[in-house]
Amino acid sequence: MAKIVIKSPREIELLRAAGRVVCQVLDELSTMIEPGVTTVALEERAAAMIAEAGGTPLFKGVRHPQARFPFPACICSSVNEEVVHGIPSDQPLCEGDVVSVDCGVRLKGYCGDSARTFAVGQVTDETRKLLDVTREALAIAIREIRPGLHWSDVASQIQKWIEDHGFGVVREFVGHGIGREMHEEPKIPNYYDRRQRTGDFKLEPGMTLAIEPMVTAGDPTVVLGDESGWPVCTKDGLYAAHFEHSVAVTPTGAEVLTNGR
Ligand code: MG
Ligand code: MG
Repeated sequence: MAKIVIKSPREIELLRAAGRVVCQVLDELSTMIEPGVTTVALEERAAAMIAEAGGTPLFKGVRHPQARFPFPACICSSVNEEVVHGIPSDQPLCEGDVVSVDCGVRLKGYCGDSARTFAVGQVTDETRKLLDVTREALAIAIREIRPGLHWSDVASQIQKWIEDHGFGVVREFVGHGIGREMHEEPKIPNYYDRRQRTGDFKLEPGMTLAIEPMVTAGDPTVVLGDESGWPVCTKDGLYAAHFEHSVAVTPTGAEVLTNGR
């Protein structure tokens, strides 16, 4: 496994500054989301805010082996059965939808990456529960992190919480180290599987990690949503949710870098 880069306190402050921009964008978009709004409108607002802050969007221009063209936007906006990598569109959001917004920014050479899933207007109780359980899965991970634990100890807790509520944990997409690059070592799964043991790692102060549980209302199997190769959707068509924070491991636990502080 490639080396996990340990960051200095100064670098962690730079990651926090990038994370602050991401948080401001997500806070702003959260006030715009209602029935009738398009995800292109969210994209335009995000692009303007990132430029105003002197940052650059991380996702725009990213290539993926499965995709036909580079990712064309600053945010991923994934609606309903879309799990991740949704492309902003001019299709208005509807009452009862969910939209996951993922935003990544580089500022002064360091990256921030965070995602939240929003309810559009009134949603069903089951949908509300999906969002609450996914948000709490991320909170559990952040509470559990401390130096000396293995990631698999944390991942087992995330997985148990989600599966105990009858939901699915996506396997094909995982969190990642974050620093000068959006995707650094290690890979950070939201489940524990003995076969993955070789990918496990011990948490150490100065590690900076993007933790991002992706949760499905039904079966966790995912498929590509269309021929572009970008949107990743649940195979059974049921809703999905996605919450992400970039965090730093501290001597006693974890501090969140994308909460606006
Ligand atoms: Mg992200
Ligand atoms: Mg990420």
